[in-house]
Amino acid sequence: MKISLVKKLSIGFILAILCSIILASAISNYTIGNKFKDYLVDEQKTKIDNVIKVIDELYSVQKESSEINTDEIQRYAELQDLYIEIKDIHDNTIYSSGKSHLHKGGMMGNMMGSMMHNSYGINMGEYTENKYPLISDDKEMGTIIIGYLGTSYLSSASVSFISTLNHSFMVSAIVALICGIIISIVISKQISKPLNKITETANKMRNGDLNVRAKVNSNTKEIVELSNSINYLAETLSSQEMLRKRLTSDMAHELRTPLTTLKTHVEAFIDGIWEPTNERFETFYNEIDRLTKMVDNLRDLAKLEQTNINLNKSKVNISNELEKIIDTYVPLYIKKNYELTSTITSDVMSNIDIDKFKQIMNNLLSNSYKYLKSNGKVKVVLKKESNTIIIKVIDNGIGIPDKDIPYIFERFYRSDLSRNKNTGGSGIGLTITKAFVEAHGGKIYLESKVNKGTTFTLEFPQIV
Ligand code: ADP
Repeated sequence: MKISLVKKLSIGFILAILCSIILASAISNYTIGNKFKDYLVDEQKTKIDNVIKVIDELYSVQKESSEINTDEIQRYAELQDLYIEIKDIHDNTIYSSGKSHLHKGGMMGNMMGSMMHNSYGINMGEYTENKYPLISDDKEMGTIIIGYLGTSYLSSASVSFISTLNHSFMVSAIVALICGIIISIVISKQISKPLNKITETANKMRNGDLNVRAKVNSNTKEIVELSNSINYLAETLSSQEMLRKRLTSDMAHELRTPLTTLKTHVEAFIDGIWEPTNERFETFYNEIDRLTKMVDNLRDLAKLEQTNINLNKSKVNISNELEKIIDTYVPLYIKKNYELTSTITSDVMSNIDIDKFKQIMNNLLSNSYKYLKSNGKVKVVLKKESNTIIIKVIDNGIGIPDKDIPYIFERFYRSDLSRNKNTGGSGIGLTITKAFVEAHGGKIYLESKVNKGTTFTLEFPQIV
């Protein structure tokens, strides 16, 4: 069963409020009930102790029991809601307050009386009587009997107090529930509104509209992150879509050029316009070679994407290796009047796959060579910075337009500038180079300015 966010939050809030109110009232019922009872029992005890003290003092002053001012004791009995009886040493009753005033008079009685008018049908409690010795001048003169309504009467007061408390709990529960529902509706609206927007965006994307972006106005961190992720996804999908379309047209273009050449040549042979000469067969061969290289590149790339790159690492003096690679390019550069220089820190050691390293450098150097202009210059730098080996290939060639830079490592991506140069590239070299560099735990990035040149930088961790 699917349940809306508003409902879910409201139910959650209501349950949380109910639980906390029930828990709070249960705990306070228990603790207040106990404390209240203890307090009343203590009060009762102090009251009785005081009465006994007063009677003892009266007797100490007036030696003759007949002279005792019983009015004062009677007042006490009524005020404190007690039954007081005084007996002499022969067990004759000297004074009795009578029980008729019990529950009616007395401060406590009044207070409790007012509390007793509740719906609980309070039990008035058991009547308890205790005997205490009547002491005057350290001599036992008789007995004081004090009677009062028992602890159930006392606890009825606490029940009454707690019932008032529970009543307030009920009122606060209702208020809290109403507030909770309002808050949960406001909060869930704040959450569900941007979520609905994001879902709407995702649905549009699903239907093929990759230009939509979720514009949410929220201060909830997770929602903002979700919306950013959806927008990033849309951006990535849209650029992937662009690359895919571009790839199809590029591939068609790349395949069509050699095929058209082959077709027109063969047609000319068939029509007898052209004699099949060695030179023309060589053109055939070159075009077929281009097609074969393209298919090989595709196969390499497919292999690269299917499996993990297996590195055959060994400890290599990459300064020497790099110098050797550069040397192989020197004749090529001289032939075209280009300049190839290098600044190489000697004896930099690294644990790398030497074949992959050669492939990486060959790709970068042949690219620089391919995309040079007249007065072309390429400089290779190798240096060590803390524990990182840095290799730079700097050229002053045609450069790469800013709009192409983010995609330059994508498969088959070629800048329009290089396309015009008709170098026969296929846009796979840098994809493979990047995969090899990253397999070594390294990084590759570039800076470029159109007509000024391009700098490719490699960073390898120096693990020897
Ligand atoms: P390609 O076989 O086309 O050279 P790469 O993957 O090696 O394929 O390079 C992809 C694209 O990057 C090239 O087509 C070119 O547009 C651009 N590029 C690479 N290196 C350079 C460079 N040194 N100067 C200018 N453009 C370059």
